[in-house]
Amino acid sequence: MSPTLSALLYLAASVAFIMSLRGLSSPETARAGNFWGIAGMAIAIVTTLVQPNMHVSFWMLLAMAIGGGAGLFIAARIEMTALPQLVAAFHSLVGLAAVLVAVAAFYSPTSFGIGIPGAIKLGSLIEMGLGTAIGAITFSGSIVAFAKLQGLRSPALEPMPMQHPINAALGATCVVLLVWFCLTGDELALWLLIAATLVMGWFLIIPIGGADMPVVVSMLNSYSGWAACGIGFTLQNTALIVTGALVGSSGAILSYVMCRGMNRSIFNVILGGFGTDAGAGAAAGGAKKEQRPVKAGSAEDAAFIMKNAASVIIVPGYGMAVAQAQHALREMADLLKKEGATVRYAIHPVAGRMPGHMNVLLAEANVPYDEVLELDEINRDFAQTDVAFVIGANDVTNPAAKTDPKSPIYGMPILDVEKAKTVLFVKRSMASGYAGVDNELFFRDNTMMLFGDAKKVCEEIVKSVGGGGH
Ligand code: NDP
Repeated sequence: MSPTLSALLYLAASVAFIMSLRGLSSPETARAGNFWGIAGMAIAIVTTLVQPNMHVSFWMLLAMAIGGGAGLFIAARIEMTALPQLVAAFHSLVGLAAVLVAVAAFYSPTSFGIGIPGAIKLGSLIEMGLGTAIGAITFSGSIVAFAKLQGLRSPALEPMPMQHPINAALGATCVVLLVWFCLTGDELALWLLIAATLVMGWFLIIPIGGADMPVVVSMLNSYSGWAACGIGFTLQNTALIVTGALVGSSGAILSYVMCRGMNRSIFNVILGGFGTDAGAGAAAGGAKKEQRPVKAGSAEDAAFIMKNAASVIIVPGYGMAVAQAQHALREMADLLKKEGATVRYAIHPVAGRMPGHMNVLLAEANVPYDEVLELDEINRDFAQTDVAFVIGANDVTNPAAKTDPKSPIYGMPILDVEKAKTVLFVKRSMASGYAGVDNELFFRDNTMMLFGDAKKVCEEIVKSVGGGGH
């Protein structure tokens, strides 16, 4: 294949990736976005395999078959609730790949056309060093993010005293090693750099806790993109450079958008340790409050209230995903609409366990897109709404985010469900949400708790509304 044709095909793949990102930015076009992504990747892989200097071996094809098969198998079986940790696990592999390619290029520079052993070009050493460092940080950091999202517990995942000063010293050491490697191309420097950045990735993510993990996953996504981009320069592969830059920049933008959604800065997220100690403390402190009485109702009560409502706003959260209640919920909403109520859905930017989590589930249940509104679009409407139906959501409605400066979620914008005439909370118990903070709203006069599994409760409400209820 001529260099011009392969450059053109790589360009086509890059355009497909841009179309993919554009498509994935809205649930309506997400399927098309996925298609563009697959098409771009297929073009890039085939173009790479038919390069004139490429020797396609049996082992390469076998590795691709095993990797592709594993990806297919995992994607088909994964629960929606486990997607964030899956994304984290996949990022770790991108980081590892970047490190391995850099090591391969270091020991066999002639195959990569970047010099001879012991005399690698300075530019290539810089690309290799940066790719290795970012890749190793991504690898170990993503493993910690995976473990935390999976709820694994180990002393190795607990922050140690003086963690931030230690991290600062380690960061400085990594920079020194990187400079040493780039200037000398020394073998020892490379391995020390890999070791130091692996520890750095681990230590960097340890102090970041619970509720900040989405930002971390997206930040690591960005790192994995930049690592791939650096390696793309070493391999002189334009598709890898462009793809890496797209992943790097879109991950960085997503982190920024999420930080803005929580009203925090990225430095505050990385240095804050939000959702760890403070969250646990708040949860423990809140145990006393659970003794207070709450108003609990049945599905029939809820059906009666909602049948008589002119407007209902549904607020889905992580519990809806756990219960897979989206289909029963849509059925309930359809019935309420038939009864004459206006039904809309309010989506908090960090509801669930990953950006867009709720949108995907509602789209899967064929909820019309125009009924699904973002926080900014709908928050003011709660005050004129009869019923806020909060299903499996907790933190995203917690007024402590506005009123309690000591709360670990302080500063996060919340959905003002308490302003609705009646607030119905569907959840199984009085337990707190992800950030480990009690929710004062459960005890309010205009709140009714509907204890039970979200799907079951919706099904019961459907029966009551459909069957005439009261
Ligand atoms: P929360 O984690 O605050 O609350 C979820 C609630 O769902 C729990 O209180 C739980 O109560 C209830 N629940 C669990 N299972 C069921 C079930 N089967 N049926 C009914 N209820 C159930 O979720 P939110 O969506 O309100 O908030 C998201 C939180 O997660 C935020 O703190 C956010 O920062 C964090 N986060 C967000 C990510 C994202 O990108 N969206 C990623 C990672 C974390 P009970 O046990 O009593 O049933």
